[in-house]
Amino acid sequence: MKQKPITNQNLKSFQNKLLIWYKESHRKLPWRNAENSYHIWVSEVMLQQTQVETVRQYYDKFIQKFPTVTVLAKADLQEVLKIWEGMGYYSRARNLHRAAKIVVEKMGGEVPADFYQFRKLPGVGSYIAAAVQSIAFHQPYAVVDGNVKRVLARLLAINTPVNDAKSSRVFQDKASKMLDLTNPGMFNQALMELGALVCKPQNPFCQRCPVTQFCKTFKTTSTDKFPVRHRRRPIPQYHIAVGVVYKNGKTLITKRKEKGLLGGLWEFPGGKIKNGETAQQACIREIKEEVNLEVEVLSHLTQVKHAYTHFKIVMEVFRCRYVSGRIKLNGAVDYRWIKFTEIEKYPFPKANHKFIPLLQK
Ligand code: SF4
Repeated sequence: MKQKPITNQNLKSFQNKLLIWYKESHRKLPWRNAENSYHIWVSEVMLQQTQVETVRQYYDKFIQKFPTVTVLAKADLQEVLKIWEGMGYYSRARNLHRAAKIVVEKMGGEVPADFYQFRKLPGVGSYIAAAVQSIAFHQPYAVVDGNVKRVLARLLAINTPVNDAKSSRVFQDKASKMLDLTNPGMFNQALMELGALVCKPQNPFCQRCPVTQFCKTFKTTSTDKFPVRHRRRPIPQYHIAVGVVYKNGKTLITKRKEKGLLGGLWEFPGGKIKNGETAQQACIREIKEEVNLEVEVLSHLTQVKHAYTHFKIVMEVFRCRYVSGRIKLNGAVDYRWIKFTEIEKYPFPKANHKFIPLLQK
């Protein structure tokens, strides 16, 4: 087949080939048939930083619990975080909840069919705005996510590193020029799907690609050199100590501030181990500093490792006995002494779920 890069003259042919492939080959996902703009919004918020297979496990549960934007707006944030528990990036859930309230209180309960109005809502960046406006309302906005950047970098042999600050503008510009204006929602989904199923990060399936003939890097057998990236800095690792404090058959949990990492979730008190300190000493010190209690360490329960996007943690978990003191919070915004049978009621970070089953034994 003759190779020809995308030009104004053959753009329609490129779009048609991609759309035909998408109609035949796309994955059947629960949100793909959604016509409800709120449902599409929820799915795009979830998909922004989470793998499709994980979102599958959460999307139906979320829509069943909060079927309309009004139901979500009326819900308690803790209920929303509980459904989101384990998916990470909890600011997405907090923003979606705040945005739902604004939609109900100030926008007549309808998701705005206007890019700029919608873009003003908490948590709605250019990706979410373009995805929802194009898929739900057929508006001509091009979506650029990691998959799209990779496909475009290879199709057009773009040398701008995908993790460079100016890459968003470069890729957005290319995607906008390529967008099928008669079918923008489907075209956006097709480009993302091509990245997910065919133009994969490692070893793309070029032989199965519907647009091979337009691909500049396929032509020069340089697909493995794209996308270009700046070298990443090593991810820091923190060693922390956490105490499960027992008092009269109950255990202490504290609630994190609503803003910031893991905001609004519950956890066991603890923090970073300082230089020259043992994990056990750090556990006792952190509990004193965070909740003003004196505790005695009973045993080391386990070590848990967990990776967040920008850092990793190694967590030493101790069982502790309350000795003395009255709770005074420093950092946390709330606390409870709970029985273990009640633990399911509270949303916890994923790292905590790695040792909670041991406590329940
Ligand atoms: Fe990606 Fe290969 Fe298709 Fe080019 S030909 S867009 S590298 S899958």
